[in-house]
Amino acid sequence: MFAYSNNDYYCEQVPLADLAHETGTPAYVYSSQAILANYGAYEEAFGDLPHTVCYAVKANSSLAVLALLAKAGAGFDIVSGGELYRVLQAGGDPAKVVFSGVGKTAAEVEDALANGIHSFNCESEAELALIDAKAARVGKKAGFSIRVNPDVDAATHPYISTGLSQHKFGIAIADAAGVYERSKQFRNLVAEGVSCHIGSQILDPSPILEAVDKVLALAEALRAQGHPIRHLDLGGGLGVAYHAGETSPEIRGFVDALTSRLRASGLAAMIEPGRSIVGQAGVLVTRVLYRKKNGDKEFLIVDAAMNDLIRPSLYRAHHEILPLRKNTLPTMKVDVVGPVCETGDFLARDREMANAMPGDYLAVCTAGAYGFVQSCNYNSRPRLPEILVEGDRWRVIRERESYADLVRGETI
Ligand SMILES: *Cc1c(COP(=O)(O)O)cnc(C)c1O
Repeated sequence: MFAYSNNDYYCEQVPLADLAHETGTPAYVYSSQAILANYGAYEEAFGDLPHTVCYAVKANSSLAVLALLAKAGAGFDIVSGGELYRVLQAGGDPAKVVFSGVGKTAAEVEDALANGIHSFNCESEAELALIDAKAARVGKKAGFSIRVNPDVDAATHPYISTGLSQHKFGIAIADAAGVYERSKQFRNLVAEGVSCHIGSQILDPSPILEAVDKVLALAEALRAQGHPIRHLDLGGGLGVAYHAGETSPEIRGFVDALTSRLRASGLAAMIEPGRSIVGQAGVLVTRVLYRKKNGDKEFLIVDAAMNDLIRPSLYRAHHEILPLRKNTLPTMKVDVVGPVCETGDFLARDREMANAMPGDYLAVCTAGAYGFVQSCNYNSRPRLPEILVEGDRWRVIRERESYADLVRGETI
């Protein structure tokens, strides 16, 4: 949904240079068609196998994005009470919400029960005891899955790999059956499912399939022992292409591999994709402020920085950077850096890219996931606006923060 037509870079039918001129920069821009197409690819691929696609809210939690997905029928995977609040504000159905995360607080559990979420993905026995006690207090039965740590290497960046026994996530697969057995003492819990999630930005899905085979075998053993397991939650993690020339793994083929494994079991599927729904549906638009040389090294200083998009600094992530208006000048090799006072503030290093001059607009591509959500006010920089494109129209779904917003809630 992002492409050049003649020399102008478009999101759907909107030329981004014109949009940037009106909204100012930096700004995040999302394609509603891309978000819905990716969600639709999951829906369609699951077909008649009973399933719920629970969009992982943490990838991009803006209300308009959640509302778009809620309207399309999505469920949601949340990791905090704040995310539940957002889902409800956006019109999401709490009966399609699963609550993941290693550190749910008592208040968050109470809130989730009061709102009637579908189930909890639990990561410790102490958490099961807490949910049981809270459910007893309100006279409800709480559905749960144990998040199993299958000890599978997701082969991704170490900060976003979660399925090895050395990681804080889940309960070791060898211990899971015992935990389910002991959970029978909790009168207010129902063992609805088994879940796993081994990491993020996984380009080769075979580790995910390996994990699924392990948890499927566990689910079938649990059923044989009388646990009412109804679903398998397969987690998220499917990656997207960040490099030009790389192609994203196909959602269709990935889901086909999952459904062929699940079909005979009679289990329903839940899946928690985040990045693969919104990653390629967004860009960060920025403007060149200066170009300067220090010795041999050339820098392109732009108005977006690490506080707006931390992925390059945090994960050494690569994002393609494209001019919103193509030119015929020779390419240049530069570090693309922001105004923040940190040497770690860069969007690209030693990048051979289209020539750009002060005043030119650029798109930092594939910024729809883990972009705005990880942004902050470091250096007292107001957070960016977000714009949603729908065909030939666009609207501001989050206003640019003002200086007054920066000090809201503070006292001297
Ligand atoms: C982050 C996360 C996801 C989503 O991961 P993506 O790589 O964005 O698809 C799904 N489930 C859980 C439990 C997560 O923590």
